[in-house]
Amino acid sequence: MRIDIITCLPDLFEGPLTQSIVKRSISKGLVELKIHNLRDYSSNKHLNVDDYAFGGGAGMVLMIEPIDKCISKLKAEREYDEIIYLTPDGETYNQGIANQLSLKKNFILLCGHYKGVDQRVRDHLITKEVSIGDYVLSGGELAAMVLTDSLIRLVPGVLNDETSALSDSFQDNLLAPPVYTRPSDYKGWKVPEVLTSGHEANIDSWRQEQALKQTKERRPDLLQ
Ligand code: SAM
Repeated sequence: MRIDIITCLPDLFEGPLTQSIVKRSISKGLVELKIHNLRDYSSNKHLNVDDYAFGGGAGMVLMIEPIDKCISKLKAEREYDEIIYLTPDGETYNQGIANQLSLKKNFILLCGHYKGVDQRVRDHLITKEVSIGDYVLSGGELAAMVLTDSLIRLVPGVLNDETSALSDSFQDNLLAPPVYTRPSDYKGWKVPEVLTSGHEANIDSWRQEQALKQTKERRPDLLQ
């Protein structure tokens, strides 16, 4: 999988995407992740990438030209399955969308800023619009990190235990069952006996029951 992220704040990506599973997936050669600074595509001597909104009103708008130049350069180098704009009015992201996207290969993620991007970017350059929830962030960078992290963990070979992504919440429309580790008794708070019994079939059915119970209690909507 290759993910190209277009942003006017590239330094924001240095922490979260250079650690842990994302870092390992890149060093294993399973994922390529490239961050593109929108300002490198500015034709303006001050490297501006935004301008006032036509019609007036508060807030700047990201201009189409640098975005078009960056996307065109990337598209000339390889084919992209999706060019995704992160936006609060996009389709709300969930595990189902993550699963579908994870079957594809190359993505561009475009991060907006200020009031957003010139509408012509959305009309002519983007193939999909995704929101990470009904709230407004200052920029698309955190949303791009959310998509990147959730997609990368689904790439075969990225997680050490291949099955662990499959037993996470939202796979099969269920929440994950509770998990415990040592000690089995802490201050009298005991781990359910079945988990230390060594009886695999019983452990599996306990986990199934618990997943169903959690889902009924917390997210009954997932069962409909
Ligand atoms: N004016 C826009 C609106 O009201 O829909 C909000 C712009 S927001 C301040 C700046 C940028 O943050 C957006 O262009 C988008 O890229 C990103 N963003 C904000 N909230 C988001 C969300 N919930 N999901 C995905 N991206 C989001």
